[in-house]
Amino acid sequence: MTDTPRTGVLIVGSGIMGSLVARLLRDSDPALDITMIDGGQAIGRAPGLHLHDVDDPVLWSRYNEKAGTGIQGMYTGAEVVREVADSLTGLTPGMFHALAFGEDAETMPATALAWNAGGMGVHWTAATPWPAGPEVFDFGDPARWSADLDTAHRLLAVTPSPIGPTEAGHLVLDVLRRRFEGVGPNDRRPQPMPMAVTPTGSGPMPRTAPGTIFTAIAAGGDPAFTLVTGTLATALLVSHGRVAGARLRRIADGTERELRADAVVVCADALRTPQLLFASGIRPDALGRYLNEHAFVTARVLLDLERFGIGLDALPLPRVGEFCTDSLWLPQNGAAQPFHGQIMNRTYLDEDGHPLAHSVGLTLYTPIESRPENRLVFSESETDLAGLPRIGVEFDYSDTDRALIDRALAEVRSLAEEFGPFDPATELALLPPGSSLHLTGTVRSGTADDGTSVCDPDGRVWGFDNLYLAGNGVIPTAMAANVTLTGAVTAVRTARAVAARTAALATH
Ligand SMILES: Cc1cc2nc3c(=O)[nH]c(=O)nc-3n(C[C@H](O)[C@H](O)[C@H](O)COP(=O)(O)OP(=O)(O)OC[C@H]3O[C@@H](n4cnc5c(N)ncnc54)[C@H](O)[C@@H]3O)c2cc1C
Repeated sequence: MTDTPRTGVLIVGSGIMGSLVARLLRDSDPALDITMIDGGQAIGRAPGLHLHDVDDPVLWSRYNEKAGTGIQGMYTGAEVVREVADSLTGLTPGMFHALAFGEDAETMPATALAWNAGGMGVHWTAATPWPAGPEVFDFGDPARWSADLDTAHRLLAVTPSPIGPTEAGHLVLDVLRRRFEGVGPNDRRPQPMPMAVTPTGSGPMPRTAPGTIFTAIAAGGDPAFTLVTGTLATALLVSHGRVAGARLRRIADGTERELRADAVVVCADALRTPQLLFASGIRPDALGRYLNEHAFVTARVLLDLERFGIGLDALPLPRVGEFCTDSLWLPQNGAAQPFHGQIMNRTYLDEDGHPLAHSVGLTLYTPIESRPENRLVFSESETDLAGLPRIGVEFDYSDTDRALIDRALAEVRSLAEEFGPFDPATELALLPPGSSLHLTGTVRSGTADDGTSVCDPDGRVWGFDNLYLAGNGVIPTAMAANVTLTGAVTAVRTARAVAARTAALATH
């Protein structure tokens, strides 16, 4: 085995979570040898750059016209694609429904996975509301939680108020503030949506993406960092409570090889992180269980301009390169206001660019109970398109969930009626499970190896000395908000633990 290649830290997955871990490891040790692998290839000229910010006009319109809906499920495709592609080699890099990737996901039909370098991080809308109350998992150390959340904010370059409020946006916020007066603390009043974007004076605002979080992903220039795309980890090499590295398969020609590593961090999303553990014979009781995703209730209403005393000519125009005029936030505030509201407003224009109407897009994410029965099961005999154990999704709403979803539907309807004439028959929907792409819980963290968690608060897999996880799957709480900022906290914790372990080994 002396000629088997070796790296210091192997990171599986080049999405936002993998890039956060790489960036923090690099910040802590400029010489640490890091290898990152991803099954997908780059979309466009460089891996990990957001498709909102690419300069190729064909590529730009291919992705950004779909992003205009503001609904993740619609981005992957308005219709769920069930037909499985013939092979991985012919697949254009991008987002695919799990069903189309050969998973058994009918109970969560809209869920999708990224098959491209940079993962979902080159596609995301970048809304980054911060978690509070029942969403927080500080494991008894609120100061550390708060510091880690600050780090996540910094690395994702979260801007508090990048899109709006415009004059029309202020009118919408006024309605929300009146309705939800006093339900939460001042800093969780209805407000502009924090987003992971870089503000600019005019024109499009660049999105945070893997290639901006850790620039070596997109631009290279780091001699101790290697990104290998088009290469799948098919199994971790396990022996006596340690991982020795991973078995890799190059997609283009099927070539297999091993890569040894001092530590491995799996950041392969909430579906494929547990899948890789299962494929490696690592099968703790909680693996794949506690699968969670908030329910997605969405509506759209045209603002009644007369009621609000605003003329057509006074309607806000979107900035060049942006699709909405206002991106607003109704924060979750516990039992009194359990929903996370994402409000994205648009002005419709005629062919000459004159305003025709202004729509208020109302989405309420409804938290769903974390239950072990909602789970991923992995097949011993069947494989998916990537040749890994086929994922079966067992997911349903509890009676409590259904009652809360009904409350969300009523809330959205009544909210919409505040803004204009509203037809719930055509303008209100509960989207199919999977539509938010905010899956959590499948490799959840916990304080004890008691069968309800897969890893400790530092992301270290129970029973393993050098195997770590990061990402949304590690989140143990029921999330109302978009999950990525919260998932980023798990990456901060994991990176710190891996860095400390690496430093300790270096001094022995
Ligand atoms: C259109 C869209 C809009 C979104 N909007 C928002 C939003 O506004 N706010 C928000 O919070 N979240 C949003 N999300 C979700 C957000 O993008 C994800 O939460 C986040 O990017 C997940 O990052 P990740 O690194 O954990 O996973 P991914 O981005 O899925 O990255 C995982 C990577 O691992 C690779 N991989 C998987 N298995 C293997 C293997 N065995 N070997 C090698 N590589 C492997 C994959 O190819 C992939 O590149 C959105 C997502 C989409 C698609």
